[in-house]
Amino acid sequence: MGFDPQLFAVKPCSEFLCTVCSEVLDKPMCVCQEGHTFCKACISRWLEKQQTCPTCRCAISQASLRPSRIVETLIGALDVCCHHSAKPNDDDGAHSSVCDSTSGQACAEEPAAKRQRMDNGCSWMGALRDLDGHLQSCGFVPDPCPLGCGASVQRRKLEEHSMCCPKRRVECEHCHEGMPYESLEEHVAQLCPMYLVPCTQKCGQTMPRKQLSAHLSADCPLQPVDCLFMAQGCTVRPRRQSLQQHLSDSAVEHSRLSTERLQALTTEMMGRIDALSKRNAELEGSINGLKLQLMESSRRCAPAHCPWDDDYDVLPAIQDLLAATSPHQHQHTHQRAPRPEPQEPDHHMQPRPMSPDDTEDHHEEQQQTRPDRAATPPPLPPPQDIYAANVFEAGFHDR
Ligand SMILES: [Zn+2]
Ligand SMILES: [Zn+2]
Ligand SMILES: [Zn+2]
Ligand SMILES: [Zn+2]
Ligand SMILES: [Zn+2]
Ligand SMILES: [Zn+2]
Ligand SMILES: [Zn+2]
Repeated sequence: MGFDPQLFAVKPCSEFLCTVCSEVLDKPMCVCQEGHTFCKACISRWLEKQQTCPTCRCAISQASLRPSRIVETLIGALDVCCHHSAKPNDDDGAHSSVCDSTSGQACAEEPAAKRQRMDNGCSWMGALRDLDGHLQSCGFVPDPCPLGCGASVQRRKLEEHSMCCPKRRVECEHCHEGMPYESLEEHVAQLCPMYLVPCTQKCGQTMPRKQLSAHLSADCPLQPVDCLFMAQGCTVRPRRQSLQQHLSDSAVEHSRLSTERLQALTTEMMGRIDALSKRNAELEGSINGLKLQLMESSRRCAPAHCPWDDDYDVLPAIQDLLAATSPHQHQHTHQRAPRPEPQEPDHHMQPRPMSPDDTEDHHEEQQQTRPDRAATPPPLPPPQDIYAANVFEAGFHDR
């Protein structure tokens, strides 16, 4: 594709036109002996389909293309308008009606009308070779709005647009918070904590929005409030200014509700007390069973206890515990406790390895003795007896 002939101040001669795209040659390439010349891009696309000159149909190839430097230089020197100049229909022919640009006479257009027309497009005119340089700085080139509103704005109007862009930063005049302009209206209407709003209960007061909920919950005379007997079942919500009137008007009803509530609570509490009493009895039974098991275990441990163990005085501790929890039982145990037999002297000198049979025997004995042990408190040796047994055994080993 070449250059739009409309850009040129004077209509280019036909030799400068490409017959493929009908525009002014861009990077002209001579392709044949006849000197036929086309845009570089146009003839490259043409050669992809056919290998003949578009004008004279002689055979050509990619290798036969030659840049036409002279034509390129001549075209580069032609005067052109900026891509963003005013189009002929932009001024409704106002300019052409007062000025015949082909006559060579001075333009008779009024200066004010000319400024108006120029405002519609870039007035730059210069050699084609300088056009790219101009476009780098042309104020009529549209750029996307840097604030992100999505608008395409001419560079020269960016500052003007930044004053009216919906994304421009503004400050709320009530709370001084910064925000995009497009959010300001909603902020003031629904969110701004400092914007003055009337009471929603229409009591006539006006206050900053952030104080409205405190006003409603503590001050507003028209705000419905809970009756003081709501917990007793009163569902009336009088306005704050009518609460005292409601309390005096409904004294009988409030008294009836309170009595009913009290009866219901009493019934509920009695049910809970019954349930707790049952639970308490169950727990006492469990504790007694555990005490019996503990005494049984203590009795079994005593004869086999080894005086060289670190915790050999555990029995007095258990007896003290039982004495503290059940003094009568403790006394009973003392009366019935038999004196333990001194152990065989060679029990600790030649320990016999434990066999599975031993475990079974022990288990059997436990099974047989359990019923009568559970019925009566198990005998426990008094502390002084244990001490005597320990001294006896210690003396034996010292020998
Ligand atoms: Zn072309
Ligand atoms: Zn040709
Ligand atoms: Zn321009
Ligand atoms: Zn914008
Ligand atoms: Zn605000
Ligand atoms: Zn109010
Ligand atoms: Zn009430």
